Amino acid sequence: MPTPSDLTHWDSHHFWHAFTQMAEYEPLVIERAEGVWLYDIEGQRYLDGISSLWCNLLGHGQPQINAAIRKQLDQVAHSTSLGMGNRPAAMLAKRLADITPGDLQHVFFGSDGSSVTEVALKMAFQYWLQCDEPHPQKTKYLALGQAYHGDTLGSASVGGIARFHEIFEPLLFDVVRLPAPDPTALPADVDPARACEYYLAELEAVLAEHHEGLAALILEPLIQAAAGMIFHPKGYLRGVRELTRRYHVLLITDEIVTGFGRTGRMFACDHEEVVPDILCLGKSITGGYLPLSAAITHPEIYHAFLGDAASGRSFLHGHTYGGNPLAAAAALATIDLLEEEQVVAKLAGKAERLGTWLKKLAAHPHVATTRQHCMIAAIELTAAAGKIQSYSPEAKVAYRVCREARQRGVWLRPLRDVLVIMPPLSISSDELDFLGNVLLQSIDAVTAELADYDYDKD
Ligand code: PMP
Repeated sequence: MPTPSDLTHWDSHHFWHAFTQMAEYEPLVIERAEGVWLYDIEGQRYLDGISSLWCNLLGHGQPQINAAIRKQLDQVAHSTSLGMGNRPAAMLAKRLADITPGDLQHVFFGSDGSSVTEVALKMAFQYWLQCDEPHPQKTKYLALGQAYHGDTLGSASVGGIARFHEIFEPLLFDVVRLPAPDPTALPADVDPARACEYYLAELEAVLAEHHEGLAALILEPLIQAAAGMIFHPKGYLRGVRELTRRYHVLLITDEIVTGFGRTGRMFACDHEEVVPDILCLGKSITGGYLPLSAAITHPEIYHAFLGDAASGRSFLHGHTYGGNPLAAAAALATIDLLEEEQVVAKLAGKAERLGTWLKKLAAHPHVATTRQHCMIAAIELTAAAGKIQSYSPEAKVAYRVCREARQRGVWLRPLRDVLVIMPPLSISSDELDFLGNVLLQSIDAVTAELADYDYDKD
């Protein structure tokens, strides 16, 4: 039986962690979890303030999801999606067709977010070669500044966050880039009330110039999460849909973060009654229990891939574990719970409580702004009270706040100077209060420590 010290050593020596500087890694090894709480091998508990990287939807150890996985395990753990199906994946495909917007009804499964954004990109490309009026010149993609769609080379190519992807640039394909529609980053002469109009006019100009070569526009609807929670102006998504339709460019929406209720509607697209051409889902689709993702499209795209086997029209893509039965069973149980317990409809009270905490936090002199979209929130720290001034990267301010929070029993992970708050939707009011209190104390502790730091020296 390994001791905690064996596990800690193996975890930091042999387990190479994602997006983690291993030279500075402070091991934290989770043993079990229940509700919003993660328990480490020493018995310490941490409130999972980011839903285990934006995945866990209805709490850990949820009895119905656990039971669904166990029951499926007694049937079949895995069978391929190449040339055959399985009961839970067939049921899930039908269920997704029912709950996703409009006529999206054909579901291609992947195993994670990156793989499914690649699916969507390749599907769009192949569609233009095989549709009734082929457009073989449509080989490029339009993507937003600071977009994030995954880390594989295709998804990273459409990504626009320099610190994640820049060094791989020689490996990435070219995309047409549009500035992120960030209402806080408007040119000084643009009235913030006209942010939506301004960014849509920019989009239209790019579409007018490039549409003939564009297969698709890909974007994270409403919220660009990994960018540090950029919230798009209201109406932007609907405008994007209208313009992409007008210019014959497919619209791919990446709802890997926003899907399944966190924004207060089942899908972000529902807020603006938008039906994309391809909708990408991942993370919370299984309640955050098992890896599964899905790209869902409408009949017009699907039919372009039909023909006899010799026609070569099949979609030339596949992932070994796409549509895995255990993951599909977890996803079905998650959707059942969302519906039976009307989770999304009941979020308003929790969102309000979170909002009350954000207001308190916004009053802190080292909080520049807070943003909230139902159960997704961001807190932006500032070095100079009363104005936006980034801490120097070496101050690692948000990282230090998260470290303080960890000592106080909350697990968070920052994005630059932005603290991300995205707890499981099952979080209780008391747990929200615990989270809010710890945040306040942790910001206080770190910013007081940094008060004498000379930020202008950088
Ligand atoms: N799209 C978005 C919007 C994401 O935030 C992420 C991951 N955080 C991905 C895609 C990639 O998902 P995965 O890490 O499962 O590959």
